[in-house]
Amino acid sequence: MTKTSSQGSARSESPLDTALSQLRRAIDQLQLSENDWNTLSTPRRVLEVAVPVRRDDGRVEMYKGYRVQYSTTRGPSKGGVRFHQDIDLDETVALAMLMTWKCALTNLPYGGAKGGVAVNPKTLSQAENERLTRRYTSEILPIIGPERDIPAPDVGTDERNMAWMMDTYSVNAGYSVPGVVTGKPIVLGGSLGRTSATGDGVAIAVREALRIKGIDPHRATVAVQGFGKVGYWAALAMENMGLKVVAVSDVNGGVTGFSNVSSIFDYANANGSVIGAPGTENISNEELLGLDVDVLVPAALADAITESTAPKIRAKIVVEGANAPTTPAGDEIMNDKGILVVPDILANSGGVIVSYFEWVQDKQNYFWSASEVKENLNSILMRSITEVSERSASQQVTWREAANMIGVGRVAQAHRLRGLYP
Ligand code: NAD
Repeated sequence: MTKTSSQGSARSESPLDTALSQLRRAIDQLQLSENDWNTLSTPRRVLEVAVPVRRDDGRVEMYKGYRVQYSTTRGPSKGGVRFHQDIDLDETVALAMLMTWKCALTNLPYGGAKGGVAVNPKTLSQAENERLTRRYTSEILPIIGPERDIPAPDVGTDERNMAWMMDTYSVNAGYSVPGVVTGKPIVLGGSLGRTSATGDGVAIAVREALRIKGIDPHRATVAVQGFGKVGYWAALAMENMGLKVVAVSDVNGGVTGFSNVSSIFDYANANGSVIGAPGTENISNEELLGLDVDVLVPAALADAITESTAPKIRAKIVVEGANAPTTPAGDEIMNDKGILVVPDILANSGGVIVSYFEWVQDKQNYFWSASEVKENLNSILMRSITEVSERSASQQVTWREAANMIGVGRVAQAHRLRGLYP
């Protein structure tokens, strides 16, 4: 069935179809067995819950919530919590699968998970959001925990939601359990550098891709789709590296012609959107994808780069800040055009890498300086980037294929070594 994507284009392939077809390709390229396909293409645990919420006017509304633990083979599962009206079980499974390959690619001792509630958080007051977050947490409480599954913020959630999740879990445990979620406020055991980590990682991936393509960052231009927790911090970090950020966008559309990223951020914070910032011109999200820039960073939702939008892309490098922003057809078109695509599981892994640091700090009750976080993020990400680019060169595959081969290969190897019980 054809579905309409949240970015306006008709889509014939769901994020789960995309994720499964990428897995199939990795299994074939690694010459793994059908047994491997059977174990790796199936989520380990899927929980669907009803989340009743009392609205401020006394009405009680029901929302669907999910938590998918795709894999626990390499350690506790780990993945974000999304509040968005369009999420469903298939998409949550797909995103949990991506988290599994991402954690293996970056060699973090985690499996993969994802969760969320099908709700538009913009329609909730702060008190309603708190009640929804706490009830969702208590519904998934039996399967989460610092040794089991560790949620983090994703689209539509932030450190405020993580504080409520941590508190709900801790109240039920009877003592404080900071390690149950990451992306918490610093005063509750959060890590320095976590807020900007995904965007900082995207900027590191951009820097390396520019180096490989022989482009001077001080002469490079970039357009960023999505100006949330990933897009904003990525834009700021790239600007600090010397790139010229020429366009940014959010769900309402995009703008060009601003002088710097901070001015747009201040305007968007005060007005709820980048649209209408003084001195800027409006462009659509689709026009932004087709701008004549060196680098394009999709940092919004899935399915931005498709059969219909990929032919318009003029960037030489695409660095995927969002999860699953490219459909297989869009990917093929970009590959044919010779665009260097840094795939999501590598490009946006900075978030889970610093989440891992936060979890380690919480376990040890010993907290790192901002420079330690930054150095360790850079070294893990650089190791992964080098592994992917070397695998891509040695096996003549795209960076996406190389990243998937490394991630999937590590999970398959862990499965084999652990064996099948009973
Ligand atoms: P967010 O909610 O903070 O921001 C999302 C941004 O995308 C907002 O600016 C929103 O207006 C915009 N947007 C939404 N729908 C859009 C549309 N149809 N067209 C254009 N823009 C649209 O979310 P986030 O945390 O920044 O996550 C963005 C993406 O990055 C998601 O795919 C998420 O899974 C992925 N990601 C996030 C993290 C993280 O640490 N937050 C880590 C890895 C990957």
